[in-house]
Amino acid sequence: MTTQDYIKREEKFGAHNYHPLPVVLDRGEGIYVWDVEGKRYFDFLSAYSAVNQGHCHPKIVNALTEQAKKLCLTSRAFHNSSLGEYEEYITRYFGYDKVLPMNTGVEGDETALKLCRKWAYLKKGIPKNQAKIVVCENNFHGRTITIVSVSTDPDARKDYGPYTPGFIKIPYNDTAALEKELQDPNVAGFLVEPIQGEAGVYVPDDGYLTKVSELCKKHNVLFIADEVQTGIARTGKLLACDHEKVRPDILILGKALSGGVFPVSAVLADDDIMLTIKPGEHGSTFGGNPVAAKVATAALEVVKEENLADNADRLGKIFREELNKIDSEMIQQVRGKGLLNAMVIKPVNGKTAMDVCLKMKDNGILAKPTHGHIIRFAPPLVINKEQLLEAVGLIAKSVKHFD
Ligand code: PLP
Repeated sequence: MTTQDYIKREEKFGAHNYHPLPVVLDRGEGIYVWDVEGKRYFDFLSAYSAVNQGHCHPKIVNALTEQAKKLCLTSRAFHNSSLGEYEEYITRYFGYDKVLPMNTGVEGDETALKLCRKWAYLKKGIPKNQAKIVVCENNFHGRTITIVSVSTDPDARKDYGPYTPGFIKIPYNDTAALEKELQDPNVAGFLVEPIQGEAGVYVPDDGYLTKVSELCKKHNVLFIADEVQTGIARTGKLLACDHEKVRPDILILGKALSGGVFPVSAVLADDDIMLTIKPGEHGSTFGGNPVAAKVATAALEVVKEENLADNADRLGKIFREELNKIDSEMIQQVRGKGLLNAMVIKPVNGKTAMDVCLKMKDNGILAKPTHGHIIRFAPPLVINKEQLLEAVGLIAKSVKHFD
């Protein structure tokens, strides 16, 4: 079968809810993927930052296969011999009393919102059904009805109403707007991405997260950080919040928590918040399964053993420096932190960011535009300097093609 055959079959039998680049991947190892015709590419998307540890990391895959041969799923109707060990490991790793295991990122966000509302009624004393949660414009927290209710992206929201009430939207990176909303005693939480990833890698001003943390403390409001994309070393620290040494009251992780081999997400909080949810009040058939527990433990070990945060920090600086040296009319801006970066593309002669991505694909490097004019670059964090510079050469060649 050719690439076109694979694509035609997907189009015929699969829902059309994605618009992939026309490449059919068959194999991956470290920073590389290969298509069905045997061509090798640098992966500069890393499955939207899920594959921080590199494709098919042997330690993580080994954890998966060993546990899969022994016990895959018990549900939480019974205990299993892997979950407690993982819970102890991850809570010590991130410094929280408790973890609530889920599967996907959006489930992590939904869990955090439920936890925040429970806390609002049981601890803060907000009157029944009056709790409000503040969110940011241009956020991305996933795709469920409640999460698209908090979105401001027309593509994510259109024709999915009626929307879930109880949310207030304010501009990102605007602490004055936050302070104004926090005057309302019925506000229970503030949900925020430390860097807005899907929106196009918007890095807030230095000091934003510090001020957010202070304001939330002052007004007895939970600071909820969605680190599904920014966490697990992506931005050059274990968590993006670590850049400002702030500690969210509720921390949401997903994606690279499993090195991309399995859907694993987690919500971390201290007892005062986490124990407001009682048995039967929230859960998931697959959340906390033994395979997920082993995989996530291995994935977190790899991050420390291979110093992935330091690597992302060091190489991220070099990457932005090198991209800024490319002399092209199309490159309007380069921004990012660690190895979460974006290049803003100005269309030239009718050629857009999508054309640049298609040319990069031809040249052996994969990335995808977001919002039409922004290309995100997020390679696996196991990349080295030599590989990074080779990839920059391919990006430069692709952009310059249109000059
Ligand atoms: N939160 C953030 C910040 C994300 O970037 C994403 C996915 O891109 C999600 C949540 C949703 O994760 P999932 O697709 O695993 O549900």
